[in-house]
Amino acid sequence: MDHARRREQLWQRAREQRLDAFLVISVERSDRPNLRYLTGFTGSFGILVVREKPLFITDSRYTEQAGKEVPELPIEEVKGRWFSWLAEKLTALGVKRVGLGAHRTSLHVYQELTRLAPGIEFVPQAGLIEDLRRVKSADEIARIAAAAQLTDAGLKWVLGQLASGRRERDVALDLEIWYRRHGAEAVAFDLIVASGPGSAMPHYRPGERTIARGDVVLFDIGAQVDGYCADLTRVVAVGDPGGEAREIYRIVLEANRAGLEAVREGKGGKDVDAAARDVIVRAGYGDRFGHGLGHGVGLEIHEAPGVGPASEDTLAVGNVVTVEPGVYLPGRFGVRIEDLVAVTADGCQTLSGFPKDELIVL
Ligand code: ZN
Ligand code: ZN
Repeated sequence: MDHARRREQLWQRAREQRLDAFLVISVERSDRPNLRYLTGFTGSFGILVVREKPLFITDSRYTEQAGKEVPELPIEEVKGRWFSWLAEKLTALGVKRVGLGAHRTSLHVYQELTRLAPGIEFVPQAGLIEDLRRVKSADEIARIAAAAQLTDAGLKWVLGQLASGRRERDVALDLEIWYRRHGAEAVAFDLIVASGPGSAMPHYRPGERTIARGDVVLFDIGAQVDGYCADLTRVVAVGDPGGEAREIYRIVLEANRAGLEAVREGKGGKDVDAAARDVIVRAGYGDRFGHGLGHGVGLEIHEAPGVGPASEDTLAVGNVVTVEPGVYLPGRFGVRIEDLVAVTADGCQTLSGFPKDELIVL
């Protein structure tokens, strides 16, 4: 990972905003993705001062780790309260206009720094780093692909032992343990295993319900590998789910394919959404597909660009996005089919390979 190049790109953008420095502050992991993107640091507390000669700041808990993870930057250790220490440091550096990431810096941090360093103007900046992160390098896509392959393999494993009578939360926990045991640093988000009526809630939380024969079971799952997330949704049935479930599955699959076919460089996020949504609307289930079609994925599970009716983003080569149409029938069941793809000049490369052509009945 070329962290130095990323910092240079950010510094260039900061200078265009007439900033003397740009601060990335992560307290209790508050901005870990951006800090990791720019330095490789994985700890919970770190501050990067981006300028001509960048500086990395942490506390004694992480000095040794920072030395290993961020070897190319000078590392300074905060003494005492970090707010006052940083305010003094910045004052000593002689900077006057300092950018702060608007998405991830708390109002408290902004107010304290403004109070403690009255000679410095702190300028909130929205999206400076997040925009850089949209376009993934080949290295990043390789890591996301590795996370996606592990995600597929875990689903294959867990389906091998799925049966009626099992509790949703046990299935989700087994899968999480499998991912960690097989190389994931974490799960990318709280894994969703939703059976029967639970599958009709797009962000369901697996609970005490035991899977019954005839249930649709929705898995929305992802492993995180080397910081990068994967995101996959597949629906299976335990025993015959009935004709309507099969029909909805067929419609959602067609929408998923239409969405995937629409993905390419230069396409608007809302146009890709429309391509998939049209299929569901034409089938008469338009009001049963409430969420956007997809989202960017990278160091975070939800990042730019957006793929939905309100998206103003245009897809570019190197974006990694999901395509995840769904139809939800409240109180009964829901079907969502989600794939993860990297945008290319003439289409997309699918990173999730788990079979979807037929509704799998166990
Ligand atoms: Zn998902
Ligand atoms: Zn998703």
